[in-house]
Amino acid sequence: MTLCYNLFDPELLPLWRIMSFVFGACIGSFLNVCIWRIPRGESIVTEPSHCPKCGHGIRWYENIPLISWLALRGKCSKCYGAVSSRYFLVELLTGILFYLLVLKVTLYQQPPAILIVYFGMTMLIVTTIFIDAEHGIIPDKTTYPAMLLGVVTAVIFPEIWSTASRLEALWYSLAGLSLSAAALTLVAYVGKLIFKMEALGWGDVKYLAAVGACLGLGATFFAVFAGSLFGSVVGIGLMFIRKKGLKTSIAFGPYLAVGTFIWMLCGERFIHYYLNLFQYLDP
Ligand SMILES: [Zn+2]
Repeated sequence: MTLCYNLFDPELLPLWRIMSFVFGACIGSFLNVCIWRIPRGESIVTEPSHCPKCGHGIRWYENIPLISWLALRGKCSKCYGAVSSRYFLVELLTGILFYLLVLKVTLYQQPPAILIVYFGMTMLIVTTIFIDAEHGIIPDKTTYPAMLLGVVTAVIFPEIWSTASRLEALWYSLAGLSLSAAALTLVAYVGKLIFKMEALGWGDVKYLAAVGACLGLGATFFAVFAGSLFGSVVGIGLMFIRKKGLKTSIAFGPYLAVGTFIWMLCGERFIHYYLNLFQYLDP
């Protein structure tokens, strides 16, 4: 309860929100390591960070989120080789997303523990956007820990699922996980039968099962709906630009990821409007 009181103390709110950006930027720095190493099968813990061009070991003061990249003007301090702007972008993006989530949780007075799930999910979202867009995969090393996070936090902090019972919360999380997995496995098989191509990859199915475990079945369906919508809009846009019939497959993961974040930020509002709609229709 003290954590709850402190988090919502009006005097401390601006501090919490700024801290959430700084914390997010630091997590983004770690995600950069994941985005580079996981698809290449490298360990994310054992090796210290080094310049991929000259092997120069990166010192702590060259590894300060956002600031170091700007100070070194996007170059390695030894070989002056360009350091991808993705490093800066991922840190900035993660900082902004964490900030928005803390803003939402404090405004809506949600249980503070929900931030653990939101932050974990944001880590999956950011890695999915960058890894899937570049390599066309969503690695198990990112989706399995997210599933575990959803289930474990449900038992430790049942208030995330708006209940006092740990067993009930565990049930909600497991139901979200298994029903998402079952529904999307079906979609993947049927899609393959009808379109004769992989409409939904297994990486996408596991990603959505993780969404179900952390945020519930409603989030899974919303992510699929919003993701399909964004994907279609971008796909049609690309078709006009290229003018030829589009056949290059676009990774679905980044769109699912954007849909998931929108759900975390304002999912409750959608449910509210949706339920209100039926209230008006009801005579
Ligand atoms: Zn270098």
